[in-house]
Amino acid sequence: MRNFRRDGVHLFVLAWALCALLVTVLWGMGELQRLRDEFESVAQRAHAMVARKLDQNESVLSSVDALMAASRPFEASELSTFARELLPHYPQLHSFIFFQSVPLAERPLFLRQMSSKFGETFYIRDFDVAGSRAWRPAAARSQSLVISMLEPDRPEAGPMFGYDIWGDAYFRPALSRALETGQRMASGAFELHEGGGRAYLLFQPLFEDREKAPGKLVGVVGLVVFCDRLLQAPALESLLPGLDLTLYQDGVLAPGAPLFQRLHTSSERDWWPVLRRLEARLPLSSVAQPFVLGVARDVRVTDLALLPWLWQQSLLLAFFVFAGLVHLQRMALRHERQQSDEAIFLQSERASVTLSAIHDGVIILRQDHAIELANPMALELMGMAAEEVVGRVCHEVFHLQAELAAELAEDPIRECFRTAQPVVLAERMQLTSARGQIRSVEGGVSPLFSREGRLIGVVCALRDLGPLRQRTVAALEASESKVKEHLEKLSHVARLHTMGEMASGIAHELNQPLTAIANYCQASIQLLEGVEEAPAQVNAALRLAVAQAERAGEIIKRLRALVSKRAIETRLIDLNQVVGNCMFLAEYDLKERGIEVVQLLSGYPVAVLADSIQLEQVVLNLLSNAMDALRDEPMMKRHVIVHTRREGKKAILEVRDTGRGITPNSLEVLFHPFFSTKPNGMGLGLSICQTIVEQYGGLISAENIPASGACFRIELPLSRQGEPDRSAVPSPDGCGAGV
Ligand code: ADP
Repeated sequence: MRNFRRDGVHLFVLAWALCALLVTVLWGMGELQRLRDEFESVAQRAHAMVARKLDQNESVLSSVDALMAASRPFEASELSTFARELLPHYPQLHSFIFFQSVPLAERPLFLRQMSSKFGETFYIRDFDVAGSRAWRPAAARSQSLVISMLEPDRPEAGPMFGYDIWGDAYFRPALSRALETGQRMASGAFELHEGGGRAYLLFQPLFEDREKAPGKLVGVVGLVVFCDRLLQAPALESLLPGLDLTLYQDGVLAPGAPLFQRLHTSSERDWWPVLRRLEARLPLSSVAQPFVLGVARDVRVTDLALLPWLWQQSLLLAFFVFAGLVHLQRMALRHERQQSDEAIFLQSERASVTLSAIHDGVIILRQDHAIELANPMALELMGMAAEEVVGRVCHEVFHLQAELAAELAEDPIRECFRTAQPVVLAERMQLTSARGQIRSVEGGVSPLFSREGRLIGVVCALRDLGPLRQRTVAALEASESKVKEHLEKLSHVARLHTMGEMASGIAHELNQPLTAIANYCQASIQLLEGVEEAPAQVNAALRLAVAQAERAGEIIKRLRALVSKRAIETRLIDLNQVVGNCMFLAEYDLKERGIEVVQLLSGYPVAVLADSIQLEQVVLNLLSNAMDALRDEPMMKRHVIVHTRREGKKAILEVRDTGRGITPNSLEVLFHPFFSTKPNGMGLGLSICQTIVEQYGGLISAENIPASGACFRIELPLSRQGEPDRSAVPSPDGCGAGV
């Protein structure tokens, strides 16, 4: 939110700055054009004014020429009168001068006439207007042009009389040209003698006979023109202040040289920097005064009309601020809409996924009872597809009714629409779909309200009771089977108990005859000791009988201990030794049946903590079963392999035979008590073996060896409590095998 606001503001500030710059440039260009137009207009007016004054100068001289032509002979007094009348009308004119032509021959006469006129001795003098400006007596020249008349004749102008202009190098070029052509000619500018500013002379040569010009030169009329007043234009100054006017002499005499410059007087606006200098050079059409008017003006900031620019900038700024606010508002609205769209999407997605995932059927109905939505579970309950359901009135698609007394109960959907209250489905409700599918359901119908609290529909939540019932039945069956199994175990325990009691009784009963047999055999041995011819075999046989009787007694004792669950004394014994003892005991039977025994015994002691007699009982049992399994095998194929080894933390003992193996069915129940495939078998051997092995934390298992016979494997925890004593020699009764 903040980001787009900041970006938006940056964008608008940038756009505003660009537009402001563009407006400023356009306004500046317009302003410059306006100032140029204004300047050009004023320059034209200045040009017209100066041209008019130049024309006036020329027409004044034309009048003089005409006047002189009319009044012959020339009378200086007439010129003086004429000049006095004219001068007040032309402020740019300083004075009228008549330079009388005095050839050398007429010089004395002229001097005399002038001396009598002024009442004093008259001299012809030289003066350098552009040089030392010192008066000196004029040299004798063949031709002199001497001032003999001056109007206005001011007292301070007295020294001017007698000035021979022909002797002034500054004026001579213009004079010569005027005399040669007989035309009016302007001189260069010079400083007036009484500090009256700059002026120039406009010469008009006068000849005696104008028709026969050049004829005899009478003299030259000189019109002294104020340069400054020529360019004086107060009206223009007020119109456009800051104008610089320059008069250039564009004639043959001094091409392009500035004759006079009238620069504007400095003012406050000169403090402002110059933006541009506007210049124009306008040639003036006068032949005698071939000048060019130069008009120039510096454009400064104060010349620019800033108010419109300020207005434009203010309007622009106001527009951008307004547009920026509108834009930000729109962006904020758009952002909010996006967020709410996202929230709506997430909510609908959550609702949709929830509806699809739950195991309850959900049906949403509109106010007109038409189905708006049915989730997958609801469709499964009805056994219909979404296209068949959505948009249709619910009662055409399904109806809910109690399993019993259906006619008495009101339809729960109608009830919910009527009461606008949640309705819980009665027990044993059934949903019957248009397809005829009937399902037992539970759940309820809830009203759906609009924001204003108006009822706009209902939501049916229905749970199929079928799977629930199935699960209940399965759980019941499982528990029944567990009870059955438990009962079987109990009966097995009871049988074992009975058998234990029986064995205990038998053991008690057998103990005495066995003791008697042992005693009788012992007595027979003692009796035979006295008889010399008694065969040694009988003595040996009797000793063996005593040993077997004692062994039988020991077995009975252990059996009673096993059944009576009395504690058995465990010792550290070597499985190799257990196997050796068993081989000794079973040797007779094995040989008799022609069975070859292979002993693969571990090179290391395979020590376990157990009772050696009990383990021997297990091994003897396995050997006995192996012998039984080999009974029907040919003599060549009667082998038993006994294998002991260590495997990690386990002590392993295997008894394998080359019989026909165990049938697959038997494998599963081999260790069950009373399982036997033998005609006279008790089916207790393996069961007892399992009890003994498991008593020591071990495991007994059986498997078939492919193309061979059965293999019984005993795993017992390997003991690390030192090496067992392997030196003990097995005794005939096996009791000495313990370590
Ligand atoms: P009994 O020997 O009295 O039958 P057991 O518990 O010792 O009881 O044996 C149960 C059954 O296991 C036997 O009846 C026999 O079917 C089977 N069985 C045991 N050992 C072997 C073996 N080595 N080969 C084949 N079957 C055997």
